[in-house]
Parts: sequence; structure tokens; C-alpha cells
Amino acid sequence: MSLEERARKLLTGKVEFLLSAPALHFLPDAGAPEIAFAGRSNVGKSSLLNALTGRKKLARASVTPGRTQELNYFEAGDPVEIRLVDMPGYGFAKAPVKVVQQWRHLINDYLRGRTTLKRALVLIDSRRGIKDVDREVMKMLDGAAVNYNLVLTKADKIKKSELDATLEAVTAEARKHPAAHPDIHVTSSEKGMGIAKLRTAILAAAEA
Ligand code: GDP
Repeated sequence: MSLEERARKLLTGKVEFLLSAPALHFLPDAGAPEIAFAGRSNVGKSSLLNALTGRKKLARASVTPGRTQELNYFEAGDPVEIRLVDMPGYGFAKAPVKVVQQWRHLINDYLRGRTTLKRALVLIDSRRGIKDVDREVMKMLDGAAVNYNLVLTKADKIKKSELDATLEAVTAEARKHPAAHPDIHVTSSEKGMGIAKLRTAILAAAEA
């Protein structure tokens, strides 16, 4: 079976919510390789996770308001082959300083201490490009030496010419970041664009 076919079968097959970790000591014991998803709030992270797993809504524990600072763990495969880690969204304009600091600590500790973390995906809205809050996360990943891919979301929302310009700018910026992978993924969860390729990259990173 090709890597692409295995990735599709794995990620659209059994995927189950494991737990929400509001702090490091709630993390599950190290197990299957982890792929972490990061991005500004509203970047399309939930939609992308749904598209990758071929679901309308990936089940998770009730997300109560105010409890957004959590790492949500999902496990794929039977037996489990891979863990998908939904990182808390960042970039809330009105987030209190304390919340931002808590977020930074949680993410930094997670990125630096997690040996089973194989790859991070940093989602970037195609219409907006890379913002300073994204750059901060990219620097955290560089500092923790966690390899990551930039993933453009909502590619269906803009014209091809605009998308090409964004892709060029994002590619140029990725080159300046030591832990950023040169391959930028262009996706639309709505249209299914780039989803099969991203699934394949996820499995390849998990198995590397
Ligand atoms: P999250 O906050 O990062 O989890 O973002 P969501 O997945 O909830 O998406 C935020 C908004 O963007 C929602 O209104 C989605 O319907 C929309 N959205 C997400 N992905 C796409 C996409 O690929 N295309 C379009 N047109 N809209 C999208």
C-alpha cells in the first residue's frame, strides 16, 4: 500500500479523543508519535482536523468557555499509530496578559520536553499571511528544535494570483527559520484541497 493510501486509511479510520491537558503534568505518558497543530484562533484549525480525519466534527470533551488553554489529544489507528495534538489557539486580541503568559509557558514546556513530538503544523490563514503572533510561535519552535510545516488554510477564499503571492512570501519567510520545513502546504478544508498531501506528510513525519 502506498504511503498516501496508508495515511488516508489511518486518519479517516478510528480516531478517538484521549484527553485535554491544561498543564504539563496532565500529559499522557509518552506513546505513539505526536503531530501538533498550532494556529491563531479562527485560522481554521478545527476545520482542518475535521477534513484530515474525514469527519464533520471530531469528537472531543466539551469545550467550555475559559478552558481554551489546553492541549487536546486524539489518537488514530487501531492499534494507535499516531497522536494528533490540537494546541490552544493564540492571538486573541483581548486575551488578558496572564492568559497569554500561561499559554506561552504551557507551549514552551510542551515543545521543549516532548521527545515523542515529531512535527508541528503552524496554520496560516491564506488571506492574512504570517503575523507577529505566528512569528512568535515559529521562534518558539526554532528554539525548541521542533521541525514544523507552515500550512496555508482557506485557500479557496482568495484568487489564485493572491494565493501565489502569499505562498511566495510565506516560502521566503520559512527559509529564514531553522526549524521550518521548506515545503509549504496549501489547503482548503472546504474544498478538500491539499488534504491528501498533508495526511501523507503527517504519516511520513510520524514514521521518520
Ligand atoms: P479554529 O478557530 O482555528 O478552529 O477555526 P475553525 O475551523 O472554527 O474555522 C473558522 C472559520 O473559518 C469558520 O467559519 C469556518 O467555517 C471557516 N473555514 C475554515 N476552513 C475553511 C476553508 O477551508 N474554507 C473556507 N471558505 N472557510 C473555512
